[in-house]
Amino acid sequence: MTDLPGRRLLLVHAHPDDESINNGATMAKYAAEGVHVTLVTCTLGEEGEVIPPELAHLAADRDNALGAHRMGELAAAMRELGVEDHRFLGGPGCYRDSGMMGAPQNDRPESFWRADLDEAAAHLVEVIRAVRPQVLVTYDPDGGYGHPDHIQAHRVAMRAADLAAEPAFRRDLGDPHEIAKIYWNCVPLSVVEAGFARLRAAGREIPFPGIATAADVPGVLPDEEVTAAVDTTAHAAAKAAAMRAHATQIAVDGPFFALSNDLGQPLFPTEYYRLVRGWPGVSEGLESDLFAGVEA
Ligand SMILES: [Zn+2]
Repeated sequence: MTDLPGRRLLLVHAHPDDESINNGATMAKYAAEGVHVTLVTCTLGEEGEVIPPELAHLAADRDNALGAHRMGELAAAMRELGVEDHRFLGGPGCYRDSGMMGAPQNDRPESFWRADLDEAAAHLVEVIRAVRPQVLVTYDPDGGYGHPDHIQAHRVAMRAADLAAEPAFRRDLGDPHEIAKIYWNCVPLSVVEAGFARLRAAGREIPFPGIATAADVPGVLPDEEVTAAVDTTAHAAAKAAAMRAHATQIAVDGPFFALSNDLGQPLFPTEYYRLVRGWPGVSEGLESDLFAGVEA
């Protein structure tokens, strides 16, 4: 069917930088193991705020040149993670960043938030049927924290997973393929609390003006709802380097980072997931491998 490696992982994200923050170490780990890792990013992140003052002119309300710049940041991040297959949904610039929920940018016809769901999903079906991943990673229905592009990325990913498996749907896009396991990104509450305790304990050594709270972390779940913990300690440095590559969006300092709100957050070396479709590969406890129980 395909000349690709036996194990194949697909991640669907809203903006350049989301993949490195959420799954950077997981992507580096699987890429290093020879898994074919495919990243699909839905927008160029044109509406992001810019952290470095010398690049502030790129912002949407000035030169409106952030999208092209962030394509370069994403490419650099993928080099740090060892991921070669990264694509934009429908091609670069097909869908525009919708801005934060309630912003006037939500209503632009080209915004991802306004995209026709099945039309957007068809772009992803083509990728799914070509790459034939066993595992899909995306956001929960709230997109982790309610950003319209994250919510839409969730909807498109879940819809595309269904349509890709549907024999009657668009055979011009390839032969049907059913993804064996679907995971949503999450972080256990106890891990978030411990991370912020470390951050507070570091006190004045933190170079950020303030400290975020657990409520600022996307996808926080009660510990018992988390189903997989991928130990990615060996790839923490690659994750930090990938996050650093998104310099317009993220400031990394040691085990901490900040987004454009300047509030310090802990970097999580272990990445966590909730299995929402397919069967867990372990009979009890947390899975440590997203491919557990999957035939390559
Ligand atoms: Zn995002």
